Amino acid sequence: MRYAIISDVHSNLEALEAVLEALESESIDVYLSTGDIVGYGADPEECVERIRALDPHIVAGNHDWAVAGILSLDFFNSYAREAIEWTRTRLPREDMEWLRSLQLVKKVGKMTLVHATLHSPENFDYLLTAYDAHLSLEVLETPVCFVGHSHVPVTFAQNGSVTFSFASEIDLNGVHRAIVNAGSVGQPRDGNPHASFGIYDTEKNVVHVRRVPYDVAGTTRKILAAGLPSVLAERLWVGK
Ligand code: ZN
Repeated sequence: MRYAIISDVHSNLEALEAVLEALESESIDVYLSTGDIVGYGADPEECVERIRALDPHIVAGNHDWAVAGILSLDFFNSYAREAIEWTRTRLPREDMEWLRSLQLVKKVGKMTLVHATLHSPENFDYLLTAYDAHLSLEVLETPVCFVGHSHVPVTFAQNGSVTFSFASEIDLNGVHRAIVNAGSVGQPRDGNPHASFGIYDTEKNVVHVRRVPYDVAGTTRKILAAGLPSVLAERLWVGK
């Protein structure tokens, strides 16, 4: 089976379309998402519709739950809060209900999906260090866990000790357990502005993290025209 991993889209339609186009020739069987479809960008409805059309296995991100009214806005900085409140005015009720229906953790065969950390998914902490990964690997019941949230593509592997790697080709053969972040489609934060996504080939047991350029100018124009905070546009140029 070939799985595509699409996460942290954050209402960035141009980035999402570029990723879906790149995936067209990849013989994808099933789509996975570790959440944050909305928040920050200017196309929440279109992004939710595109993602729903893929019929993905998906879990909730903190922005999804905040827009849906499950998570308090107190957990967000002022830019994020502004975008969440704006997004609420743009989504049809049916899409809001869909966001509200998303769960925090989902198992799909040999994979587990969670947005933030597996050891305390409801706190939406960042999984950034080998120690954070160790805590989540302790409770991981499948060989592979896909996460999002940090917007930085990275893999933590456990073979006795926990090591991490920023490699774009991740060979999971011989790895006891691994946590993989395939990066963010709509707001990369690793200094590379290109949209990031993953492809997991379970037969080869290899994950590829891929990057594609997209129309950043078009996206930033829409963010500014919507009256959203300009920092949400500026950061897309530099991948921060
Ligand atoms: Zn996010």
